[in-house]
Amino acid sequence: MEERDDVLHMPHDQIEAMQLEGIKKTVVACYENVPFYKKSFDEAGFDPYSVSSLEDLSRAPFVCKQDLRDEYPFGMLAVPREDVREIHMSSGTTGVATVGAYTEHDLKFWAECFGRGIAYAGGGRSDVVQICYGYGLFTGGLGAHYGSLFSGATTIPISAGNTERQIRVLREMGSTILCCTPSYAMHIADTAIAMGLDPARDFHLRAGIHGAEAFSDNFRAELERKFDYKVLDVYGLTETMGPGVAVECMEQDGLHIAEDHFYCEIIDPATGEVLPDGEWGELVITTLDREASPVVRYRTRDITRIIPGECACGRTHRRIDRLHGRTDDMLIIRGVNVFPSQIEQVMETFDEVSSWYQIELTTKGHLDVVTLKAEVNPDFDFDSTGAIEQLQGRISAELKAALSVGVRVRLVEPMSIPRSEGKAKRVIDLRGENQ
Ligand SMILES: [Zn+2]
Repeated sequence: MEERDDVLHMPHDQIEAMQLEGIKKTVVACYENVPFYKKSFDEAGFDPYSVSSLEDLSRAPFVCKQDLRDEYPFGMLAVPREDVREIHMSSGTTGVATVGAYTEHDLKFWAECFGRGIAYAGGGRSDVVQICYGYGLFTGGLGAHYGSLFSGATTIPISAGNTERQIRVLREMGSTILCCTPSYAMHIADTAIAMGLDPARDFHLRAGIHGAEAFSDNFRAELERKFDYKVLDVYGLTETMGPGVAVECMEQDGLHIAEDHFYCEIIDPATGEVLPDGEWGELVITTLDREASPVVRYRTRDITRIIPGECACGRTHRRIDRLHGRTDDMLIIRGVNVFPSQIEQVMETFDEVSSWYQIELTTKGHLDVVTLKAEVNPDFDFDSTGAIEQLQGRISAELKAALSVGVRVRLVEPMSIPRSEGKAKRVIDLRGENQ
């Protein structure tokens, strides 16, 4: 199948008309088929048959991750179980997992949405797509897989892990597009360099489609320099489908939402009020044609904004900005709200440090203590007298000015912070534990 170009360039009023139809159908299907929604709509006084404009959706109550957990495993299904072709689950690290179910139709549009990402990267039949997202219940591996098949590319379902084999396959199969988390891509590059290879010269990558975790512009630039390819950000979550809800185009100026399948709102996370385009807040998603696991106003906890105006690429689907962390990543340190992304932004202003860092939270007496462990770049002279102390002091002063919170900075040698095959572990909260 080809990228449906007409849909991607449709005048926005036509997209909105299509979205209104999708919302009307979805709220009614949820109300009539999912007891959770019937109860929640009735309690909020929201009449699903009364929706006549996109703005009317803001009268509907939110649904959050805990609601989906409470209905585990099949309470949120809007179709008979027999119509479900595939099941995925979000990682249940903090308790019960949430279930995403897919009908034949749902799998088809998921493939199309991720396939758009590959098409945005200019990918197609002549490409070899190496997928090192984890396969299994996590949506990363199979989402990318279906997208790659849809795009007509040759697909290598290698899954995550065994980095030396990844490197061999990258070379021997001449992979042109790499799909994995950005931190794993960096780990592949660094491992290849440690093996004496030059990822820019010895590999044939043109593009990387990297998501499932937030990453900074500096981190992107470092990846692009190492592999000599273009990095496109991809967004999605199991609760709304999986990766492909929004994907960046080659302009690298925000991620185009698949607006024919999703309606996005940005809300103030504290008040729930819908914010105008351009303002940062929490992303809320309503599915427009998902059959098995539709969601109405799902609170993603992800912090972004709708980028006002049109993209230079000419596609008319609106864009979300690259994520600025999650509302639940928000750290409350000595009563001050701090996002890890704010710490990252400060670190980006220092050329001497790399993008690898970890934030450790401990307590001393009744006070929170924040320690930022960051790696210096390989060309930094670690042994020069006083250089480390001086740099630590400068970074610490900048952080204090930016966050209004004191941060201990401890610089470490390159490659000394543990790498992971999946999402990078940026925050280690040891508060409440015995030291
Ligand atoms: Zn674009």
